[in-house]
Amino acid sequence: MATDIIIKPIKDSKISNVDFSNLPFGKVFSDHIFQCEYIDGAWQNPIIKPNEPILLNPAAKIFHYGQSIFEGMKAYKDGNGEVFLFRPEENCKRLNLSAKRLMMPEIPADLFMDGLKKLLEIDSDWIPTTEGSSLYVRPFMFASGEGLHASPADSYTFIISTAPSGAYFSGKVTVLIEEKYARAANGGVGFAKAGGNYAAQFYPTQLAIEKGYNQVIWTDDNSHQFIEEAGAMNIFIRIGEVLITSPTNDRILDGITRKSILQIAKDQNIPIEVRKISVSEVVQAAREGNLKEMFGAGTAAVISPIAEFGYQGVDYELPELKDTYASLFKEKITDIQTNKSEDPYGWRVVV
Ligand SMILES: *Cc1c(COP(=O)(O)O)cnc(C)c1O
Repeated sequence: MATDIIIKPIKDSKISNVDFSNLPFGKVFSDHIFQCEYIDGAWQNPIIKPNEPILLNPAAKIFHYGQSIFEGMKAYKDGNGEVFLFRPEENCKRLNLSAKRLMMPEIPADLFMDGLKKLLEIDSDWIPTTEGSSLYVRPFMFASGEGLHASPADSYTFIISTAPSGAYFSGKVTVLIEEKYARAANGGVGFAKAGGNYAAQFYPTQLAIEKGYNQVIWTDDNSHQFIEEAGAMNIFIRIGEVLITSPTNDRILDGITRKSILQIAKDQNIPIEVRKISVSEVVQAAREGNLKEMFGAGTAAVISPIAEFGYQGVDYELPELKDTYASLFKEKITDIQTNKSEDPYGWRVVV
């Protein structure tokens, strides 16, 4: 390992307090975190230490100007105790894309990967093995440097924390196609995993919840005529046999799950169209009985099928099909992630 990591182990592991047969999502945290500070233009002394509260100056710029980015990934353990990640270098690349846009320092890939692997090694007992569960990995970076001047901070903190998690609840998801609010705009930060993007989604999502829906389908900020994302997931729509997803752009996050689905669909000879999807086309397909599936795609849930959508006061139900693209993709992806199948793509990385 290239990176020298200081290791400060926890005195008493908290693992015996955790009910691994009944894990929530992202609420229970493992013993350790990986932490590294960016000071004076360089990343300093990476450390693995107990997951405890951190001290910050009240003037830290994260609190005032929101320089904060994150990633989401998962680690899995198979029956032989081998540990795997799924396309982790993509998360590192994307973190650095986000960093650049938010005027934050990029993190070298070997520092990211060495810290992550060492952390997983130390907390490997925390990786659950029951069906559907995994160790959710949350790398994040924020401005820890101080000052009220509205300019980039001069120091930053990078942390990786991990949370043993059960299957992400999706259940029967109903969604509302958004006509007023937008999660992103051209020239903005929608393509980045910037904390503020999610804060800005909460209010419109709450309005949708009050109307009886679970989630918002984001449309383009300009016309609200084109479908872009499903909550904090990419969206796929199946009309007839054709699978459609919007091209990525300034406003759409370039999801690793989305990318993986497109590759698998191609290899399964599923007709794919990566193009703008208009709301009117989806409504018309629903009316004519051609709208077969809608689903969100992202690391947490992998695939989250949508049962119903609302638009301009009308609710449209999706059919309950037996063999769905959603279940095919979910199975193919999770089988690769958990070492249940061959990985022709080289996506699975042994830790
Ligand atoms: C993280 C995220 C996704 C999904 O990306 P994955 O790499 O598949 O986890 C999609 N949309 C938004 C807005 C996201 O934040």
